[in-house]
Amino acid sequence: MTSLDDIQVTALKGVGSALAGTLSKLGILSLQDLLFHLPHRYEDRTRVISMGSLRVGDVAVVEGEVVKSDLVMGRRRSLQVTLKDSSGFLVMRFFHFNAAQKTMLAEGQVVRCYGEVRPGRAGYEFYHPEYQVNPGAMPEQDKATLTPIYPLTEGIQQPRVRALCQQALDYLHRYPIRDWLPPALLADYQLPDISAAVALVHAPPADAPVHLLMEGRHPAQQRLVMEELLAHQLSLLRVREQIQARRALPLLPRGNLTEQFLEALHFQLTGAQQRVLTEIRQDLSQPLPMLRLVQGDVGSGKTVVAALAALQAIGSGVQVALMAPTEILAEQHFANFRDWLEPLGIKLAWLSGKIKGKARLAALEQIASGEAAMVIGTHALFQNDVNFDRLGLVIVDEQHRFGVHQRLALKEKGVGNELAPHQLIMTATPIPRTLAMSAYADLDTSVIDELPPGRKPIETVVLPDGRRDDIIERVREACGRGRQAYWVCTLIEESEALQCQAAEVTAEALAERLPELSVGLVHGRLKAGDKADIMHRFKEGQLDLLVATTVIEVGVDVPNASLIIIENPERLGLAQLHQLRGRVGRGEEASFCVLMYHPPLSQNGRARLQALRESQDGFVIAEKDLEIRGPGEVLGTRQTGIMQFRLADFERDKGWIETVRHLAPGLMHDARCVDGLVRRWLGERIRYGDV
Ligand code: ADP
Ligand code: MG
Repeated sequence: MTSLDDIQVTALKGVGSALAGTLSKLGILSLQDLLFHLPHRYEDRTRVISMGSLRVGDVAVVEGEVVKSDLVMGRRRSLQVTLKDSSGFLVMRFFHFNAAQKTMLAEGQVVRCYGEVRPGRAGYEFYHPEYQVNPGAMPEQDKATLTPIYPLTEGIQQPRVRALCQQALDYLHRYPIRDWLPPALLADYQLPDISAAVALVHAPPADAPVHLLMEGRHPAQQRLVMEELLAHQLSLLRVREQIQARRALPLLPRGNLTEQFLEALHFQLTGAQQRVLTEIRQDLSQPLPMLRLVQGDVGSGKTVVAALAALQAIGSGVQVALMAPTEILAEQHFANFRDWLEPLGIKLAWLSGKIKGKARLAALEQIASGEAAMVIGTHALFQNDVNFDRLGLVIVDEQHRFGVHQRLALKEKGVGNELAPHQLIMTATPIPRTLAMSAYADLDTSVIDELPPGRKPIETVVLPDGRRDDIIERVREACGRGRQAYWVCTLIEESEALQCQAAEVTAEALAERLPELSVGLVHGRLKAGDKADIMHRFKEGQLDLLVATTVIEVGVDVPNASLIIIENPERLGLAQLHQLRGRVGRGEEASFCVLMYHPPLSQNGRARLQALRESQDGFVIAEKDLEIRGPGEVLGTRQTGIMQFRLADFERDKGWIETVRHLAPGLMHDARCVDGLVRRWLGERIRYGDV
């Protein structure tokens, strides 16, 4: 039977190959694709406003007669059309226009137009408004209902997309869309069927409740939102299935590496570390690849847990790869793991993008021969020319920068290519529950929800940069007492070079002001060796003050550091600030964090810094961050693909997330349903690894 999926957009009137090409850029090939190109909002054009009552910034519909239509030469040539109603005037200005348009907008014509009021040289103006000549002839329907607004791409405009969708709706009666959701489910939640929902959102009837539609809470919209969230959930479960379609080598604890390691450790694992470790061990002993996410607050001790997982793997005779997102963090892990594992007779290799030539060849050889049981590095670990002898476990630290696609690719790197490696993923900071449920649906989750004993709370103060001198004195005082301090320079992301420069200048100025202290500087542009050297000297206490860019954001661990100054914290996200602040509070001493902002603070900025001052609980802060900045920002760039929804809004629709999570596993056995939904909502994104 023919379905809308089989009918190409070229079947529509007025769609030739050029327009079809443009539509394909929006992922629209078939009529079904077109109908799932959903309006992301509505505009209320049902009420005509009198021109005399317009204010700058208003978005409104006006209607009037053309009293003047001129070509204006100015800096840019434009067509200026003056409209008049009984209360005043308004100018429509077009910088791009054609002859036909100019003729149509002749004096005496009645025009209805829609736009945003701007102050212009001829009074209030609309730039490039949508307009309708002779609105008396408009269908009543268009005048009486909300106007859907669609996502666009270059080469196509709103009215065109709108008209195409309306045309496609005519096919809906003959070829209804396949509804993948069970009727009982729809009844439970009082949701309309798919065809009705799609028809309604493209052409809301005049009597549909405007406020619900504007807010995205109409049952038709909610039906689609729910389906979209479900499709995302299913796509991730399918990733999981694809990874677990391969077998893994069960890694059973053998020998006494673990006992030796624990004996040498100068502390006891916390109850939470124990529990999570038990969960990991259970997974590792299975013939299915582990897919586990470990969340824990900053300083909760994820690294030791990773080390113990690594030991179980190494004890079973396979290799372990540990990947960190930055060079600095990878180096630190390398130093730590070497201290921990070399005494046990385990050989480690180190690989990063900066390792070149002979050193690189030597590392590759150790990895390929299996001589190195543990390999630590950055993304460079998973380049094509890196071949493992028998990779059994991959540990990814700080997941934020690692995507589903890479997880999928890892399955190919396993032992002899027949078996997939186990995967252990550790996040830098906690992820709110709802977000974890949707963005990491392919992973099992463990939470280390307890900090090691004896941690002192970090006192956080928020000060304007006018207090810089006082703050410098504070550094002098702390370091005078034998403590160490961080001074973090932030700058708007775009330019790493500028950021490094700023840090250099700050380091010089601080060294001058604090001649009795030894001041170090670390930033992303230093050579790997120099960076490691400075971190080492700071760790050994040879440097009192470390000036740094946000490269120290994750993982750096120097327990004697008890003071951190963060410049311009208003530029960073909460999770990142929490992560930075977590560089202190790791020792016995009371610790302080100074957030030195540049006034004036926006309301939002104030709220964020306040949240940080009031809480030290990474889980609470993560919730706040999600609320203030949304899921894309909280997850970071790599992961955002998965959270790019057409309709769903994470905050508004979070009520569905739990529901969808319960429903999804039950649908997984129906491959056609999963395919249908994933294709409908995510298109080819998963397959091409954009997610
Ligand atoms: P994160 O979870 O932020 O990665 P780390 O693994 O870097 O935290 O651990 C932070 C610090 O706490 C390290 O110095 C580590 O040695 C120490 N640590 C970890 N577990 C314990 C524990 N159970 N008792 C005492 N100290 C611990
Ligand atoms: Mg860590």
